[in-house]
Amino acid sequence: MKGRKLLMIPGPIEFTPKVLAAMSEPTTSHVADEFCQCFGECLDMMLDVFMAKDHEPFVLAGSGTLAMDAAVANLLEPGERVLVVNSGYFGDRIGNMMNRYGVESEHLRSPIGDIASAAEVAESLENEDYRAVVLTHVDTSTAVQADVEGICRVAKEAGCLTIVDGVCGTGGAECRTDSWGVDVYLTASQKALGTPPGLALLTVSPEGMKAFYRRKAPVQNYYADFDNWLPVMHAYRKREGAYFGTPAVNLIYALNVSLKQILKEGMQERFDRHLHLAGAFRAGTDALGLKTVPVSKDLLAPTLTALYYPEGIDSQLVSRIEDEGVLVAGGLHSEIKQRYFRVGHMGAHTESDIIATLAAIERALSKSGYDFSAGEGLAAAERELLTD
Ligand SMILES: *Cc1c(COP(=O)(O)O)cnc(C)c1O
Repeated sequence: MKGRKLLMIPGPIEFTPKVLAAMSEPTTSHVADEFCQCFGECLDMMLDVFMAKDHEPFVLAGSGTLAMDAAVANLLEPGERVLVVNSGYFGDRIGNMMNRYGVESEHLRSPIGDIASAAEVAESLENEDYRAVVLTHVDTSTAVQADVEGICRVAKEAGCLTIVDGVCGTGGAECRTDSWGVDVYLTASQKALGTPPGLALLTVSPEGMKAFYRRKAPVQNYYADFDNWLPVMHAYRKREGAYFGTPAVNLIYALNVSLKQILKEGMQERFDRHLHLAGAFRAGTDALGLKTVPVSKDLLAPTLTALYYPEGIDSQLVSRIEDEGVLVAGGLHSEIKQRYFRVGHMGAHTESDIIATLAAIERALSKSGYDFSAGEGLAAAERELLTD
């Protein structure tokens, strides 16, 4: 027994040995030359990974929720109305944040496992005056992927700012931030970016920054106020030290390694690999008769899969899968929490990880008394892996 379980949850994910090694390097001063170089490189590389040329990059110590908070607090003002294209848990969260800052959120909700199309969003924008459209790239509670390109196109046509919560997608699921008209693309380190938890990352477009510069009301969040962080980020981009709040030095060293690994793989290659692994995994679960939470194939996320438990099987399946050596996640969406589970497949995962996960699911299903013939899911996944 190796005593270690394969971590297949939608974040934190498994980190590469080099990323983890960077975490354990001696902590330097946050203004040491070496760190200024490292942080500056991170900010530059981030723009390539986010595909956000000419956007302002920010990296703050905090989790993904802070990145959401920073976007809302800095770009939106009290009294403004915002359309939330809500596909689940995190749409509710960002709506709550807006309400806290006096921003009015209106939710375009879909049945569980679905999300509004670009045409439906366009319809909602037709007769109403919204300042911004907010959406979740990959909804972690349902594994639904939004049509970021289409929704942002109609939002821009209606003169809205666009804020995309990419926490479960950035660096794994395709987002061409600048050419798709995404004004804020935000994420956390521990998901597809492959760095341990603790960093909030966001890029802001020139138009988004204009909204920030022109705001009349003061930013109601002291820590996340861009006025505090812009001089710091600008200094590091010039490879100079600056201070507002101490950066998470070791995490930045780890982020540098991870971003280099991502860019070395290549963004298109990385998007393709995620699709390839996700396709194989779902070929396997389809063959086992497991139904996805997303209601149609074009909504399936490349970074995670949400599956209903089959008839007669309950959430004990998650601990049975764990007993077989693989950690998957239970449900998150409050309305169906007890009825489904989630498997993350993002970052550095390999074909073998997909096979190991399916094998563990098969053994756990078998021990739960599910009727299927062993190896069916594995064979389907293998066939899929060998086709591309
Ligand atoms: C994980 C996640 C968040 C929250 O990130 P934390 O790091 O847990 O604060 C927000 N949105 C989405 C889509 C997520 O997957």
